[in-house]
Amino acid sequence: MIPLINLRRQFAFIKKELMQEIEEVIESGQYILGRRVKELEEKIKERLEVSDAIGVGNGTDALLLILEGFGIGPGDEVITTPFTFFATAEAISRAGAKPVFVDIDPVTYNLDMSRVEEAITPRTKAILPVHLFGQPADMEPLQEAARRHSLFLFEDACQAFGATYRGKPVGSLGDAASFSFFPTKNLGTLGDGGLVATSHQGVAERIRLLRQHGSRRKYEHEKIGMNSRLDEIHAAVLLLALKEIDQWNRLRREKVAIYLAELADLPFLTLPRVGEGREPVWHLFSVEVESREMVRKFLQDRGIETGVYYPLSLHLQEAYRSLGYKEGDLPVAERVSKRILALPLSPFLSEAEQEQVISALREYGKKEGGSGK
Ligand SMILES: *Cc1c(COP(=O)(O)O)cnc(C)c1O
Repeated sequence: MIPLINLRRQFAFIKKELMQEIEEVIESGQYILGRRVKELEEKIKERLEVSDAIGVGNGTDALLLILEGFGIGPGDEVITTPFTFFATAEAISRAGAKPVFVDIDPVTYNLDMSRVEEAITPRTKAILPVHLFGQPADMEPLQEAARRHSLFLFEDACQAFGATYRGKPVGSLGDAASFSFFPTKNLGTLGDGGLVATSHQGVAERIRLLRQHGSRRKYEHEKIGMNSRLDEIHAAVLLLALKEIDQWNRLRREKVAIYLAELADLPFLTLPRVGEGREPVWHLFSVEVESREMVRKFLQDRGIETGVYYPLSLHLQEAYRSLGYKEGDLPVAERVSKRILALPLSPFLSEAEQEQVISALREYGKKEGGSGK
């Protein structure tokens, strides 16, 4: 079976060094928020050119801590995309605010900038775009809208470590950004982990308090916080992965370039396109197809795993029924969620494996997909 994401190979690649690091962590006697977490925070902060990087428990908490850190809560609205992992909207709701979903751009699948402005109300406090599948959202018009309406602009960069927008790294393009180190993310660890990046130093200090029970000194609590910290073992994994990430992202781009060239003439596939000025990291390589289940089964029968991110737009989720959206409200997100299909991609997808995926799709095209899009 060709897996959608080959994590075993990725971790095997750093395993030798990692085992030694893990032994050192064990010896050190310090397992949470220790020197490795500090080193990781320093390295990421320098790379992103932000004043603060704060290691936290996971990407969802990173979003929640950003929202709470900037004082967003009950009565506030946050504009976001319905075509993302649930956590983006969930964090807004957890903070006590209301997610306001705006439809997506049919080409890049990111927030449709032309529709953001009309969704702004007196209660809007922030815009939260997602750099979906590793492709940066169109940040410049969002930065302008945020400035014009005095809103915060946050980035959900959980799928996009290393991506750039007009030469600048994602994570440095708004007031704060969240990263996730969930194993399948392009920069992942062997469990849960996350990070907040921001250049608002005052807020950064508040987030550092909030991640650790609102406490600066043990057993003195200034705020009601939470427990959301990064572990030393995860920091050790991430420090090793960070050394490889540019190479891994480059490998992803090379493989995507091959997919794009080799699949370009297949009429039953709509290939992803990259917006101007953006360099994606291809956390996932998703195409659009009309008869998704047929294509999936065809590939499955040939030993090829595929994935669907995401099958149901967030505005139609049961959990958000109370918001009152109905089918047809956000037609682009709804259409794309029915057609989207992720093909195997990871830095360690071999040439032979990719060739197999490509020929299987070409074979499908000959047999059943000839009837156009
Ligand atoms: C993974 C992900 C999250 C949540 O990150 P966790 O570390 O799993 O909590 C949030 N937003 C997006 C877009 C993600 O892909």
